[in-house]
This record gives sequence, C-alpha cells and structure tokens, in this order.
Amino acid sequence: MAVTSEVIPDTVIPEIGIPVLDHGFVRLDAAMADDLSVVNAARVSFARRREEVDDADAGLIRFLMRDRHGTPFEHNSFRFHIRCPIFVAREWFRHRIGSFNEFSMRYAKATDDFYIPDADDVRSQVGKPGSYSFEPVAPELAERTRGELQAVYDVAYATYTRLVEEGVARELARSVLPVGAYTEFYWTVNARALMNFVSLRAADTAQREIRRYAEACEQFLAELMPITHAAFVANDRTAP
Ligand SMILES: Cc1cc2nc3c(=O)[nH]c(=O)nc-3n(C[C@H](O)[C@H](O)[C@H](O)COP(=O)(O)OP(=O)(O)OC[C@H]3O[C@@H](n4cnc5c(N)ncnc54)[C@H](O)[C@@H]3O)c2cc1C
Repeated sequence: MAVTSEVIPDTVIPEIGIPVLDHGFVRLDAAMADDLSVVNAARVSFARRREEVDDADAGLIRFLMRDRHGTPFEHNSFRFHIRCPIFVAREWFRHRIGSFNEFSMRYAKATDDFYIPDADDVRSQVGKPGSYSFEPVAPELAERTRGELQAVYDVAYATYTRLVEEGVARELARSVLPVGAYTEFYWTVNARALMNFVSLRAADTAQREIRRYAEACEQFLAELMPITHAAFVANDRTAP
C-alpha cells in the first residue's frame, strides 16, 4: 500500500518535514514502506504470506539483519525531498543506490540562501585523516567566521545577479557561487540503501552537517519500519 507523508499515523514528524541547518529540511514526499514487506519478501521462499507482523516475523527480521540477508529489505521505497548546502549534496550523491533529481541552476535562478553555521558548529579540525577530532573554536573566531562567510556570500550573490542581469547565461554565472549555497533534490531509495546511508553518514566519522540530515532521514525509517529500524540499531547500525 502506498503511504503518503500526509497519512503516516501518529507521526511526531511535522508534515512540512524536519528542519535541518539554517535553511534546509528533510521531507518525506511519499513512501511505500513497512516491516511486512520485509517479512513477505523473505517468506515467499516457502510460498508463505502474512497479513500482519507477529513476534515470529519480528524475529525473522532480526535474523535477516544479523545474518545480512539484505535483499528482503529492498522491496520498499522512500521518496525524500531534501534541501541542503551544495557541499552536503555532493557527499550525498556519492550514494549510488538510489535515484536523484536536482534543482537546476541552468534553468532557474539560484537561491540566495547560504549556509551559515551556528556559532557552536564553527569548529577546529585536529589529528590525522580518519581520526580527526573537532573542537569548538573561541567565540570571537566563531563570530568572525560567520561574518566572513556572510560577506563572501553577499559579494558572490551580488556578482551572480549582476552577471545574469547583464545577459550572462545562468549556467556560467553560477560559477561564482560557493558550495555553501542551498540546493534541492528528490531522492528515492529503498530501506537497504537507506540503512547503508545512515550507517555511514549518521556516524561520528561523518561530517556534522550531513550527519544532521542522515539523522533526520533515519527518523522516517524508524517511523515507517520500526522493527527493521530496531534490528538495524541492535546490529550496531550495520546495513544488511
Ligand atoms: C566518512 C566518509 C568519508 C568519505 N571520504 C571520501 C573521500 O575522501 N573521497 C571520496 O571519493 N569519497 C569519500 N567518501 C564516499 C565513500 O567512498 C562512498 O562513495 C559513499 O559513502 C557511498 O557509499 P556506498 O558505496 O556504500 O553507497 P552506495 O553507492 O549507495 O552503494 C551501496 C552499496 O551497494 C554496493 N555497490 C554499489 N556500487 C557498487 C559497485 N560499483 N561495485 C560493487 N558494489 C557496489 C556496495 O555494497 C555499496 O556499499 C566518504 C564517505 C564517508 C562516509
């Protein structure tokens, strides 16, 4: 059964989606996803079919997760609408198992929304690749960083707007825009690939900004496929 975001029962997630960062969000546009689909995909091996998930089925889901029988987790679909900075989208688009369609800065004017981190999120980076640690910077540096980002964004967007007004094609004028500019895309993904994304991008090792988005996506997984999600968490958040 197709479940749209409007009819998810007892959801604690606002219908407009989950706000992320200063101008972004994760919104579930539609979904066809439940734990029963996992059970029936697995039980078809024995020509069996369930109408509801019982305790034995929940055990089956935990077994499939633990032993990494991944394919029964593929018979479902989440269609997300995402708004995030371009640098987050670049990391996201590395996840090949899923479908993307993105806002085009060739055909439409770029937004003037740019990412300015909260002061608490302005951080230092120390250590080696693979084991960096990130520490807050002094309040004065945090505020100056935020101010300098805003100043660069203002100049970049003013230049972009002027070039477009003077007749330069948007596809070329966009070259002046920084990767902190916001973009939007649709992402359709099944639970197996979504768990892979969450396991990598909600981890401590992932960049803080994409981690916030991964955590938001995970809330939708937990909402629609609670037994699958619980098994994923119990399996050290390793995707099957
Ligand atoms: C913390 C972190 C740091 C990173 N740093 C870098 C970096 O410095 N440079 C960089 O380029 N990337 C970097 N990446 C991206 C990373 O290498 C992966 O491209 C990205 O995480 C997508 O993971 P994936 O391939 O598992 O996901 P998906 O592409 O969604 O694939 C899901 C799964 O499908 C299977 N699969 C998909 N395609 C193939 C294939 N062609 N062959 C075999 N199996 C396949 C694999 O089992 C894979 O795990 C980083 C990722 C993280 C999380």
